[in-house]
Amino acid sequence: MDTNLNIEEIVKQVLAGMSGQAEKAAPKAPAASAAAIPKTARVAMLTSLEHYDIKEYPIPEVGDDDILVKVEGCGICGTDAHEFKRDPFGLIPVVLGHEGTGEIVKMGKNVKKDSAGKDLHLGDKVVTCMIFKDDPEITMFDLNKQNVGGADVYGLLPDDDIHFNGWFSDYLLIRGGSTVFNVSDLDLNSRILIEPCAVLVHAVERAKTTGILRFNSRVAVQGCGPIGLICIAVLRTMGVENIVAIDGEEKRLEFAKRMGAGNTVNFKDYKGIENLVGAVKEAFGGHLADFAFQCTGSPVAHSNIYKFIRNGGGLCELGFFINGGDATINPHFDICSKEITTVGSWVYTLRDYATTFDFLKRAKGIGLPMDELITHRFPLDQINEAHQTNLRMEGLKIAIINE
Ligand SMILES: [Zn+2]
Repeated sequence: MDTNLNIEEIVKQVLAGMSGQAEKAAPKAPAASAAAIPKTARVAMLTSLEHYDIKEYPIPEVGDDDILVKVEGCGICGTDAHEFKRDPFGLIPVVLGHEGTGEIVKMGKNVKKDSAGKDLHLGDKVVTCMIFKDDPEITMFDLNKQNVGGADVYGLLPDDDIHFNGWFSDYLLIRGGSTVFNVSDLDLNSRILIEPCAVLVHAVERAKTTGILRFNSRVAVQGCGPIGLICIAVLRTMGVENIVAIDGEEKRLEFAKRMGAGNTVNFKDYKGIENLVGAVKEAFGGHLADFAFQCTGSPVAHSNIYKFIRNGGGLCELGFFINGGDATINPHFDICSKEITTVGSWVYTLRDYATTFDFLKRAKGIGLPMDELITHRFPLDQINEAHQTNLRMEGLKIAIINE
């Protein structure tokens, strides 16, 4: 890929963003009129394991601090897949969907600005981040709040008498005190990818705290599902050039190359950890990795990754969003004698959200195939099928797109 070609375009975008022109230049959708809002609308409610019911409810009153959003689309997350299969969080009945976006069709009179201070109008496209009902003091730039652990998120709220609580629906009611961002300058695909991308922006910020990750670092990314692929994209947009992707699926490794990995290793081609380490080393031209990102939920993959890292190197583990079981390591060889610096990464902060909006523009600006991460699109009434497709792991990101 030729990065130089698009530098001018990126610089223009960045400058426009700094002076606030991006907002003005963004095409404004015609403001939806309140008359167009129906009396009732659908939600997809997970009512039992592996089963959504499409239910119709009256659209609730929009209070003075609330925003009514007409949902355009929402990605299916690994968390949704776990909920669909096993309900580990005990949320059923629940309207899931937290990677969603849509258009403001009604606002309470107190709603003027988003969580970053940008104006909000009817017709603006928005995403939500988290809800701090119990802690309204927390603002976007509160650095003491490390991540969203413990905060509520639309799409993971148990059902209540409002019902429009998740993005797998026709409408979402954003209640006062929630975070909301005006992202009218991003297209629908980009907006659906904001949430998963924020996870990687956060992971790279965590990795940077080790002081080991540098422009010229040799970086191994293990796991090329959406998380690993976006990890490569984030590294690539920040100027890290020497990336090796590790996965067991040739198709995903091909995609990893298009995202910016210079070399790939298919672990299925190698018997035994010594051979696999040899392959990783070869992929880096005879060197171990300076830094590694572990993006799979496999305990064996966690055990393996230490072997790919050089003495004094670093590791960011972000693959275990649920309990995947224990992993075995050898503290002598894997940590002490190598002096490896390890960080864990968990979801994101509000600040990462703002960084993510810029990342998405830059990723497209340098020609990364971000749009192709969304491999399947289903309408809301085919949500059961969409989830089954997701469980079969046939694609990458599967999205529900409303007509
Ligand atoms: Zn998610």
